[in-house]
Amino acid sequence: MSFSVHCSAALLCCSSALLCFLLSLLKAFSTLQSSAWVSVQKRIVAAQTKTIPQPVQKLQRLPFCRGSWSQERVHVKKKRFCLMASSADAATTLFVVSELAHNRMLAWPGGGAANMEVPARLVSARNAIHMLPPAVVREVDDVLNLSSREQDDPPPWWSTLETDLSRAHTHGFVEDVRTQFFAEDPEMMASLTAVTSVLAISDQVVSPSTLGHAGGFTSGLALVRPAGHHSTPDRRAPLCVINSVMVAALREAHSKGKVVGVLDVDVHFATGSQKIALRWNEQQEAGEGRVIVADVYGAMGPPARFVEKVQLYYAEVQRQGLDAASLRAEMDAEFASAKPHEREVIDMICDSHLLFPYGVEELNDDALLEATTHSVEHFVKHGVETIFISLGLDAAAGDREGAQVHPEGFKKMAQVLRKSGLKLIFALEGGYHVGDLDGGDIKSSGEGVEELDVNRFLGTGNFGRCLHAVASILAE
Ligand SMILES: [Zn+2]
Repeated sequence: MSFSVHCSAALLCCSSALLCFLLSLLKAFSTLQSSAWVSVQKRIVAAQTKTIPQPVQKLQRLPFCRGSWSQERVHVKKKRFCLMASSADAATTLFVVSELAHNRMLAWPGGGAANMEVPARLVSARNAIHMLPPAVVREVDDVLNLSSREQDDPPPWWSTLETDLSRAHTHGFVEDVRTQFFAEDPEMMASLTAVTSVLAISDQVVSPSTLGHAGGFTSGLALVRPAGHHSTPDRRAPLCVINSVMVAALREAHSKGKVVGVLDVDVHFATGSQKIALRWNEQQEAGEGRVIVADVYGAMGPPARFVEKVQLYYAEVQRQGLDAASLRAEMDAEFASAKPHEREVIDMICDSHLLFPYGVEELNDDALLEATTHSVEHFVKHGVETIFISLGLDAAAGDREGAQVHPEGFKKMAQVLRKSGLKLIFALEGGYHVGDLDGGDIKSSGEGVEELDVNRFLGTGNFGRCLHAVASILAE
């Protein structure tokens, strides 16, 4: 029906000028959509791309694209759109750590405080992967798997890895890594496997070649040990060695020159990741991107009262439209008597990082959903296209600290992230409530979880169940 008929009908029926005006707006919007669409089609044809497997069906504004989304995004009239393809032909790919790399990390006995860091964590995690549809899962070899160290000393990839490590860690830290690697220290071999696995998986997720899955969904789930998010630029923390997530995030920020998001959902405040991000953002060179960390926590972090006070004042000053330097000066004046650990909080908030402090028992499904939603909105506002998720399953109900997130809560978190249309690379951090686990391999990968003895393969605790909840969303 044409616009004029619409308009006449409206006038005849109710003589409403307002209705006519609304119809004009609708018409204008349709024209914009249609011209945007032509522009996108032209761009696809001009590029002769083979990466869009079937005619793209429609455009959708970011964020919160729904359905199955391609990795391709386009800008039309300075606004970002996703391309949406038919879900019937869409391919989902979940990149995971190879069996060889898992075995190398399992060879490290772990232990740590209260013998929390046990190989059973990774057995449960690997079993969760085996329960996914095999066609979706793709194993990625890390450089240690591909290397022949005996023939090359140092191996050819070592200098590249040192460069990657050096963005997150100090020279002294990287020297220690080198020494322990050549001494074949079991913990360092596990940590190097963890970081090179996260790097290899993120290579796949952010690679233009994954556009082959346009219309589908491509993500990564690096189930690794030991964790890394407490490690600072120059210091290892208990239960952590190399800060794998920050090494990968900084490499992405460096190579793409775009802002990269890090979402930390471990029950413990990361600290290390924020210190690395602050250092990077201060020292980054022209053409490199910043890194923004959003941290949801219930323990070991800055107290909620002070964080909320700083966040409220920052939001108030921001509304005055000050430039960054004046804004910072206002914050310094307001919190002139802040103690050093409080000043760190002010630094984080002024550097666009987000803190979500909860009382440990308040860290439940709703809290995780709310914090994840706010984080995604914040990332999108800052132009983030890739999010690294420090996945700490010690926020699960039943784990040591007493947080109250259930498998359903982690599932909803994963759904929000997936619907954002952004590239996602998850890496395991904490999480110790494995429970009893007999450690047996799954006889046939790909069996539905409902057909399996869940306690036997995932353990009796919530760790494996929460992990499976996240993985199943990424594999849908
Ligand atoms: Zn933790």
